[in-house]
Amino acid sequence: MSDREAELAANLAAVEERIARACRAAGRRREEVTLIVVTKTYPAEDVRILSGLGVREVAENRDQEAGPKASACADLPLSWHFVGQLQTNKARSVVGYADVVQSVDRPKLVTALSREAVRAERAVDCLIQVALDADEDKRGERGGVGAGGIEELASLIASAEGLRLAGLMTVAPLTGPYAGRQQAAFERLMEFSTHMRAAHPAANMVSAGMSADLEQAVAAGATHVRVGTAVLGVRPRLG
Ligand SMILES: *Cc1c(COP(=O)(O)O)cnc(C)c1O
Repeated sequence: MSDREAELAANLAAVEERIARACRAAGRRREEVTLIVVTKTYPAEDVRILSGLGVREVAENRDQEAGPKASACADLPLSWHFVGQLQTNKARSVVGYADVVQSVDRPKLVTALSREAVRAERAVDCLIQVALDADEDKRGERGGVGAGGIEELASLIASAEGLRLAGLMTVAPLTGPYAGRQQAAFERLMEFSTHMRAAHPAANMVSAGMSADLEQAVAAGATHVRVGTAVLGVRPRLG
């Protein structure tokens, strides 16, 4: 085992233990929570090691980086999640490798993703990114739609060819009423999810929680946590 492999294995085990403990504390079964490892800024070799260690879901936030990395790892049994802010002109590229786009936050993006999914004959799962720091009908600083925009986007995605409405995603806000209150933020996301599932019962993914706040996400009911730093190490630069 290489040093890097040993390091990633130890980090993964520690994250796994955190998730397991958070599930026990919340009275949830471990299988209710899926770990997505966020591999942004780290090389394809690390993705390959992670795959060998049993990781099945990985996430990236920039198309320029994700495209080549996904190609280099095309032989691995991985699901790729796109979690970054996405311009419509990148939709074609992203649809080429992403199984799940977690950052759908505006109608134009739904149109672009649908067109490219149809063209590529791919089915793409979409999560609506909710901005808990945005006004009802605005978009957030770091992407995401305000609460008032969820329903419209949900209907658009649900009726878009090539796309499947899979659920909701959020990033704990740094500003606004939920700043520093991760669990309250994630509980709010769960309320939106419950409401949305009344109309779209299959859209049951709730993606919340990162390295610093995965416990709060599990406690609130998240089905997916997105963990980068705690598995791969501190990123050399913001990404
Ligand atoms: C980078 C990133 C993560 C992972 O963050 P860590 O703090 O490194 O665990 C999760 N979600 C999104 C959207 C990200 O961009």
